Amino acid sequence: SITLDQVTKRYQGSPVVNDVSVDVGEGEFFVLLGPSGSGKSTLLRAIAGLTGVDHGRIALHGRDVTHISARQRGVGLVFQNYALFRHMTVGDNIEFALRVRRMKAADRLARRKELLRLVALEGMDDRLPTQLSGGQQQRVAVARALAHKPQVLLLDEPFGALDAKIREELRRTIRQVQRELNITTVLVTHDQEEAFALADRIGVMNLGRLLECGKPDELYARPATRFVATFLGAAN
Ligand code: ATP
Ligand code: MG
Repeated sequence: SITLDQVTKRYQGSPVVNDVSVDVGEGEFFVLLGPSGSGKSTLLRAIAGLTGVDHGRIALHGRDVTHISARQRGVGLVFQNYALFRHMTVGDNIEFALRVRRMKAADRLARRKELLRLVALEGMDDRLPTQLSGGQQQRVAVARALAHKPQVLLLDEPFGALDAKIREELRRTIRQVQRELNITTVLVTHDQEEAFALADRIGVMNLGRLLECGKPDELYARPATRFVATFLGAAN
């Protein structure tokens, strides 16, 4: 689980994440939805520990990590265009992550196979990233993010510029993996269709504030703020 308590992050004095409090439950798939510049990525980076906060507390599975380094938080991270090592095969890209985490050689091969199965890339060990579609590359990035068995998975616009069909497939894979591992997940997107397709619960951000959280159908049927009503209505 993830607990954010009054989290604020400022750049040059102005808050880009402003007093955000929310609990994401164990095994929940939470989507942060909001327009460009609303502070979604900054909040995700704060959860990961890639950026510090100016105020508030962050706890992962009950452990206060506010002042703990990214590495020690041990979350799995996937970004848009999350670079794989171009000169390394799929298998070696994952192997690298396992080695960094000091997994024993004897266990690495089995874990590698397991990870590739999870993201539906069995048998693609020997491909180079250039021999994969964009969606398949993102699957490798997901597998790599899961290599060290994180308890929390954070995804920032993982569908990037992928075309509709590939997005759909990748969505399904991410949801399957998330369910199978029951891993607490936060996914950031500005695409409400994506949010509605994936989320157990959606949090809508604007101007650094988390305006409302709710199950997709609740949020859609009974938005509590004008912004959410307009934002969710806009694309329909
Ligand atoms: P997008 O959908 O475009 O990715 P976002 O919701 O992820 O947007 P953020 O990247 O979190 O938004 O940025 C929120 C605000 O903070 C923006 O106004 C941005 O310019 C600003 N910002 C982000 N990072 C920094 C930084 N390192 N220094 C200064 N300002 C920053
Ligand atoms: Mg962003």
